[in-house]
Amino acid sequence: MKHNLRFSYRLLILFVFILISPELNAQEKKKEPSTAIWGPVPAVITPGTCGSPPSDALILFDGKNLNEWESVKGGKAKWKLEDNAMTVVPKTGSIRTKKSFGSCQLHIEWRTPSIVTGKSQDRGNSGIFLQGRYEVQVLDSYNNKTYVNGQAGSIYKQYIPLVNACRPPGVWQSYDIIFTAPVFNKDGSVKTPGYFTVIHNGVLIQNHVELKGNTVHTGKPFYEKHNEKEPIILQDHGCTVSYRNIWIREL
Ligand code: MG
Repeated sequence: MKHNLRFSYRLLILFVFILISPELNAQEKKKEPSTAIWGPVPAVITPGTCGSPPSDALILFDGKNLNEWESVKGGKAKWKLEDNAMTVVPKTGSIRTKKSFGSCQLHIEWRTPSIVTGKSQDRGNSGIFLQGRYEVQVLDSYNNKTYVNGQAGSIYKQYIPLVNACRPPGVWQSYDIIFTAPVFNKDGSVKTPGYFTVIHNGVLIQNHVELKGNTVHTGKPFYEKHNEKEPIILQDHGCTVSYRNIWIREL
């Protein structure tokens, strides 16, 4: 009899526990604030295919005209427009966008000459200068020895690309550049530095590297205060490099 009672008592405790345990659980959960974020809802866009612009991109060059570009010397961009591409006409000078940009995602396709002349830095050299001063190097780096912090995909004289993803000369290649613009204090000092992420032909070659300042050929890079938005420059380095399909998304 005594044994039976003890058994019933244990059963009762178990029963009560089963009854209240979901309640306890629920109370425990209530203490944790929800981490779900419901807004603002990211804009719905239609992505492009294989480098074609998404619906929210600004087209900087679609092969039809040079309307978005001008010479850095002032006046019209004097590069050759042919086969939906623009090609450097050596000595006509670098060209820049008429509009100015800060942080952005830039897609750009480039091609070095199929007939190889010159070597090292004199082979398919051009460059993409974000804010007119921070260069992602364009170079024919296909079997072309040069200093590694100046090869294709380098942040010129600052960062060596993680790999050499170059296609042969005469073949179209792409850069997808994610650029975070530097921010300056009123006194000209750097509040936050710039950053580059670069994808070359679909391969990550620069992974959020911190810009050290303006691109300089010799000496240490240094920052110089500039506007929040500045034009993008494509370099005339004396080589007949071509560009096509250029679009940008401001961030
Ligand atoms: Mg260059």
